Amino acid sequence: MDYQSILNSIYNEVLVLDNNGKIADYIPELKRVNTEKFGIALIDNYQKIYTVGDAIEKFSIQSISKVITTALIFSKIGNDLWQRVGFEPSGNAFNSLVQLEYENGIPRNPFINAGALVIADLMLEHFENPKEYFLNFIRELAENENINYNEIVAQSEKENGYRNAALVNYIKSFNNIKNDPDAVLDFYFHQCSIEMSCEDLARVFQVFSHNGIVPRSKFKFLTTSQCKRMNALMQMCGFYDQAGEFTFKVGLPGKSGVGGGVVAIYPNHYTVAVWSPKLNKKGNSFYGLETLERLTTITEASIF
Ligand code: GLN
Repeated sequence: MDYQSILNSIYNEVLVLDNNGKIADYIPELKRVNTEKFGIALIDNYQKIYTVGDAIEKFSIQSISKVITTALIFSKIGNDLWQRVGFEPSGNAFNSLVQLEYENGIPRNPFINAGALVIADLMLEHFENPKEYFLNFIRELAENENINYNEIVAQSEKENGYRNAALVNYIKSFNNIKNDPDAVLDFYFHQCSIEMSCEDLARVFQVFSHNGIVPRSKFKFLTTSQCKRMNALMQMCGFYDQAGEFTFKVGLPGKSGVGGGVVAIYPNHYTVAVWSPKLNKKGNSFYGLETLERLTTITEASIF
């Protein structure tokens, strides 16, 4: 498959689309990003990388980080995880509070904010220095030591994170948060503030296209069943209340973030990451989704 010329032509086609998406502005620091940025990176199963546009520029990965924290906890505690968080699509916005009351503080899945906060709580429970551990793990998966938290973005979200504070306190009232809510929020805002490029992200997500094995070290991080379940979660919950549309149009598991990043996995074939900061109404990158829909359509290959 000539991925390079496919990516080039998709890039040129998408770039001329009328993009009426909007940058996330509820985290003030994210508003500083150049809204015209657009990059794509694809890594095939033999670790050959194909890029176009702003593919090596770092951006805020935000909710994409939720996949990695979930995978870490899943590998650590196995299926006990599902006593703390569910595995069903929510059909609601990423930051919604509504289901928590009648579902007794057990978030629908680990990728909505409520669920990611429970996972952050588990990170505090299971790792002595979770911030350091998490960053080092990401660096290892990305094969890049030069990946960091952005303290300014983390602080900016902390100062305005009333909704996440509400979520964590509300879940704690059901006893499904064990640690101090401020400590959980501090970890969560930091995990979201990590900056990576499309190339880094495509590399990190290879563990999910390689059956749970980290390609470089050959370390079997997730069992085959755990890897299947992580991909299933991304398929069902990776795009919040647009997960159905993403599955319908793209047909791959994936995850988005409000920094404008989108990553998708074609198991045993490739991982692909796209970055374009303008988001549609559901909080997903407009160009990101247009790009991936074209990719699976042109290559006539998806998991379905
Ligand atoms: N840090 C963001 C928040 O909690 C992440 C949301 C996202 O990327 N969808 O609101």
